[in-house]
Amino acid sequence: MDARSPRNSSGTATPGQRRGADHIAPDCAGQNFYAIDRGLRDLLAHYLTPDDFARLEPHFDRLGALAGNRLDELARIADKHPPVLYPRDRFGRDEDWIDYHSSYREMEQIAFGDFGFHAMSHRAGTLGMDRPLPAVAKYALQYLFVQAEFGLMCPISVTDTSIHLIRKFAAPSLQEYLLPKMLSGDVATMWKGTQFMTERAGGSDVGTIETVARHEDGEWRLYGDKWFCSHADAEVALLLARPEGAPAGTKGLALFALPRRLKDGSRNAYRIVRLKDKLGTRSMASGEILLEGALAYLVGKADQGLKQMMEQVNLSRLSHGVRASAMMRRCVNEAMVCARTRTAFGKTIIDYPLLRRQLLKITLPSEQSLSMFLFAADAMDRANAGSKDAENCLRILTPLLKFRACRDNIPVATGAMEVRGGNGYIEEWVQARLVRDAHIGVLWEGTSNINALDIITRAVGKTRAHKALQAELSKLLDEATAIPDPFRDRLRQTLDRTLTFAERVAAEPSQEEHARQAASALYHIASAVLMTSEAARPGTDARRALFARLVLEHRLSVKDPLAPKESGWEHAAAEILFSERKVAIGEIAKLLT
Ligand SMILES: Cc1cc2nc3c(=O)[nH]c(=O)nc-3n(C[C@H](O)[C@H](O)[C@H](O)COP(=O)(O)OP(=O)(O)OC[C@H]3O[C@@H](n4cnc5c(N)ncnc54)[C@H](O)[C@@H]3O)c2cc1C
Repeated sequence: MDARSPRNSSGTATPGQRRGADHIAPDCAGQNFYAIDRGLRDLLAHYLTPDDFARLEPHFDRLGALAGNRLDELARIADKHPPVLYPRDRFGRDEDWIDYHSSYREMEQIAFGDFGFHAMSHRAGTLGMDRPLPAVAKYALQYLFVQAEFGLMCPISVTDTSIHLIRKFAAPSLQEYLLPKMLSGDVATMWKGTQFMTERAGGSDVGTIETVARHEDGEWRLYGDKWFCSHADAEVALLLARPEGAPAGTKGLALFALPRRLKDGSRNAYRIVRLKDKLGTRSMASGEILLEGALAYLVGKADQGLKQMMEQVNLSRLSHGVRASAMMRRCVNEAMVCARTRTAFGKTIIDYPLLRRQLLKITLPSEQSLSMFLFAADAMDRANAGSKDAENCLRILTPLLKFRACRDNIPVATGAMEVRGGNGYIEEWVQARLVRDAHIGVLWEGTSNINALDIITRAVGKTRAHKALQAELSKLLDEATAIPDPFRDRLRQTLDRTLTFAERVAAEPSQEEHARQAASALYHIASAVLMTSEAARPGTDARRALFARLVLEHRLSVKDPLAPKESGWEHAAAEILFSERKVAIGEIAKLLT
């Protein structure tokens, strides 16, 4: 228990807490983040088979309880005790190691040991399943975990994605060497993974990579300098390097697996020379690495390095979208608790129109991202089962989610901080950490511009993946017969206009400056259609359709800032949205037109 939570051993409030409770709004400590998330529960029941849902729900519930309790406490402590690099041992040998606080180690045990996050997509046996978990379940678990701890999700996810690449592209002998260690659930001995690409010359422009791979005595040896290396002390790093004599640019890059220790247990010839002093993700170690002839194993074909690595990048991008969604949910939960309990000028602050508007502004992107990531995860499950259409859909959904959810996370975190007032700026409360952590999402695994260009130039312009998305969204609208026709027509028309806009930007190099605008519009219309379709399903909370209308009005319509429209419907919608009551579509149908 840290200093922020002065509960006594019986778990009841201390006299100090009771005094404070007169004025200071509580936070979400002690809540079960699964139990309080109606949207998540409804959508999981829809996307998972009844059998999988019944088997996995106890684990969602267990992780939801941990995220609001022990994991949350550990995350807070780990953030305040960041990892420390020791470059040499006491004999002066360059035996570099990173020291982690016990709180981080306990979180590793929960993630890798108890839940097997890294292995759940790759083998049977995690969480009692007789086969690998569906992607929908994996990302839902990531979503619950990250509501407490963000930093560690990088090592968790990058271990998972490294295993994917090694299984898919490595030679059988390399698989036999690495996979049993990487898939192990024994945290003390397992090998975790990571991914090093970025160098000083370029992160976006990976074709500038200067690390060289030399073939010496039948082995590959790496020489170079990697500038951003998260999870710097992972036991296996996947990285890009240029074999001597290979062409310049991205074509000449090969993918290698770099073990931290050699087969005899000695240190491989690379050193972590420095850890970065970061704004956020402070529990996790990001460093700089000097490769001094390190032994590495070629993965797949030497001329396919970047193409293979992009599989890992895309899996990471999807996870980043999920992480942003998780942090937004935490922000919303915190803001709602605060808004319902804090009083000012004699009223609870949720009763003020301006504050309600602020709450809607942070809730909307959170709900959009929930619908988008579960739809993307479902597309992944369908793609894994062989659907080409789902694969194309996932191709565009992945950068859409990464781009927009990570951007939305920043104003949502700031908005949630503001709802708590001055206390939100104080590091004892989670809001300050959420604000710091929110910013990394627009940098790693591709900045906003790089993701927007991927969406418009490649996914729309080259792959034509938007056609698959269009087909799926149109089908969902056709099936949502419980929704009034005029609202569905409005969505259809907006979908058509958005796709026309995206195609025009993709086709005209002079329009590139609009790539972000077009990508945002695609995200917004897709999320509005999804939320409408979800609202129409029997058993699902129909309030999701109100969020869809808010998206249409506030993200996809022209507004005159000097003549705001009469928003009577919004007041009624806010009343229903804040009521915490599940509603049927009939009750809100009139608010959709
Ligand atoms: C905490 C942290 C951890 C990281 N961990 C890792 C890691 O583990 N492994 C790893 O490989 N990398 C890692 N990175 C690096 C990260 O992926 C890069 O910083 C990122 O890709 C951007 O690259 P850059 O820093 O070189 O910026 P640049 O590529 O120089 O970009 C600078 C600006 O130019 C813009 N820009 C670039 N090209 C274009 C274009 N064509 N059109 C429009 N705008 C453009 C970018 O959007 C950005 O705004 C990490 C970064 C951070 C901050």
